Amino acid sequence: MTLNGLLDATETPAAESASAAAVADTCSLDNYLVQPDHTMDARIAAARARLGTDVVLLGHHYQRDEVIRFADFTGDSYKLSKAAAESSAKYMVFCGVHFMAETADVLGRDWQQVILPDLNAGCSMADMAEIGQVEDCWDVLERTGLTQGSGLVPMTYMNSTAAIKAFCGERGGLVCTSSNAPAAFQWAFARAEKILFLPDQHLGRNTAYELGIPREQMVVWDPWQLNGGLSPERLRAAKVILWKGHCSVHQRFLPEHVDNIRASSPETKVIVHPECRWEVCQKADATGSTERISQYIDQAPAGTSFAVGTEIHLVNRLAQRYAPLGKQVRTLDESGCLCTTMYRISPQHLAWALENLVEGRVVNRIQVNDEVKHWARVALDRMLEVKG
Ligand code: SF4
Repeated sequence: MTLNGLLDATETPAAESASAAAVADTCSLDNYLVQPDHTMDARIAAARARLGTDVVLLGHHYQRDEVIRFADFTGDSYKLSKAAAESSAKYMVFCGVHFMAETADVLGRDWQQVILPDLNAGCSMADMAEIGQVEDCWDVLERTGLTQGSGLVPMTYMNSTAAIKAFCGERGGLVCTSSNAPAAFQWAFARAEKILFLPDQHLGRNTAYELGIPREQMVVWDPWQLNGGLSPERLRAAKVILWKGHCSVHQRFLPEHVDNIRASSPETKVIVHPECRWEVCQKADATGSTERISQYIDQAPAGTSFAVGTEIHLVNRLAQRYAPLGKQVRTLDESGCLCTTMYRISPQHLAWALENLVEGRVVNRIQVNDEVKHWARVALDRMLEVKG
């Protein structure tokens, strides 16, 4: 078992003995990785057809085109977690990153199995809050007297490990996504005076500010400093304690990128994801989750131009989708911000996972242990009750 309370991802042999060994040989991942992308299309489609309703493919907006075109459901992590909770498929193949697959396992039923085609598809933000660090933080907050009574609610962004979600669930807190963060903050403030927000400082700061909390009432807990680098006085004065984490993709968008757009193309609307820095969000015309960004563009009149601050695959897809409707979409940062871990889910990995399933083998299963699952589910159920 790992530090984060997970069982190891497993290969579960459903077939036995010699025939299983033969299958394992033909289904070795190495045999797939040497093949070009386009040769996987027919194989994925054929495996998908043979599996029928036994399998559902969930694809996050940031996936590359060669993979997401096979998804049964596409969306942001909120929409996909709802799809996972409602799915009746035996196997959920998650074309996203590790914490999303964990969430699907938590929300799924006992007889469902979740597969992440490449176990290296992690999330740098989720990795910035380890459970041991968060427990140490909570100890300090307890010693400072902040957790007594209705003092403090822990809340975590969806982009966190199952262990962090469970930590929040066990202590009366919840999970939020970029779609429902404002509503989740209101839920928490109806129950407590302060919020500990994990692990994305930017989403936490942007959301709290939008709800009218001044920046002076927010502090940043640095897990690499003694007592988070904060005095008891500063902790007591704060309404929101932000964990020092960030998205390495969205952090690359800078205020000067917005300034450049304003100077070169003043009519262009700037829309950014709330994982971007506060300074960028303040300069933008609108902020929102990937779903909200898509809706915003969809509802705009023909002839509108947009510069979008989010992952490049989604931006490129929006550009293609709306060009025929007379709307121009481009990235806010011309260097193009790519989520390299999401990109690890390749057509080869997807074909490998599906063809193994056809042969009765479950590879790269993501399984959260029962205790973590219970409390993570509590936190996720609270999130699903909060309207976006
Ligand atoms: S875009 Fe950022 S937060 Fe989203 S999966 Fe990639 S690294 Fe994680």
